[in-house]
Formats: sequence, structure tokens, C-alpha cells
Amino acid sequence: MSVDLRKMRKEERERSKQHRKDRLIQTRVDRRLQGVLVEQARRRRMSVSNLVRGVLEDAFGLADPDVGPLVDGSDRGALATAVADDLAHVYAWNAVVLGKSATCSRCHAAMTRGASALIGLSEDPDAQRAWLCSECGDAL
Ligand SMILES: [Zn+2]
Repeated sequence: MSVDLRKMRKEERERSKQHRKDRLIQTRVDRRLQGVLVEQARRRRMSVSNLVRGVLEDAFGLADPDVGPLVDGSDRGALATAVADDLAHVYAWNAVVLGKSATCSRCHAAMTRGASALIGLSEDPDAQRAWLCSECGDAL
């Protein structure tokens, strides 16, 4: 593990301890936004809570000025199209009953055996199998 990564994790732990004493705000998000938040937090190796807090601090000018923004201009375009691009290879969706558990390709919701879902049909042999939960399927 590099020193920078260790330092970043220590800083995040310290911020996390400090923020536990802060006020709790809850909000509802749709599954698509949840999927983007989970994926972006994973890429940054941080919790979704810390990602959301950081983005809000950036948006309202409350972030540490010595630290760059969590989401910059290039990320915004990527975030807006990330989910759509991942599924661009799908030419049709077929309704199925799952024989095994799967994860929604759009919102990352866990789907259990026996659940109704959509499977993506693709001619791209390199593409991962695409799944949609029923809520994401309804949003097509
Ligand atoms: Zn979904």
C-alpha cells in the first residue's frame, strides 16, 4: 500500500469519526442515482456517505480549498453517460425469471433467484451479460 493511499484512508477515517457527531440528513434517490453513487464511491475507495458529503461541500463552497473537488468537469460528463454507455451494446431486453442471483447492471441492486428481471441481448462477445431489475426495466 502506498503512503498516499494510507494517508488518504487515515484522513477519511478521521473525517468519518468527526462526522459521526454531525447531523443526519436522509434523502431518497432513485436506483439509477444509487448505482452511480455506489460505483463512484467504490472507484474512489470511500463510503457513499463520504462521497455525498464531499460533493455537497464542493457544491456549496465548503470544501477544504487545498483539496481538489471530488467531481470535476470531466467526471460530470462521464457520470451522466456512464450507465448508458455500459449498456449501449444491448439491442433488446428480454423478460426472464432469474435462475440464479444477479446484480442489476444499472443500479447494482441484488436480485435473488426467482425474481423477475430483464436480460440484455447483445452481439458483443466481449461485453458482460447485462441485467436490469424490474424498477430499472420500468424506466426504459
Ligand atoms: Zn436496477
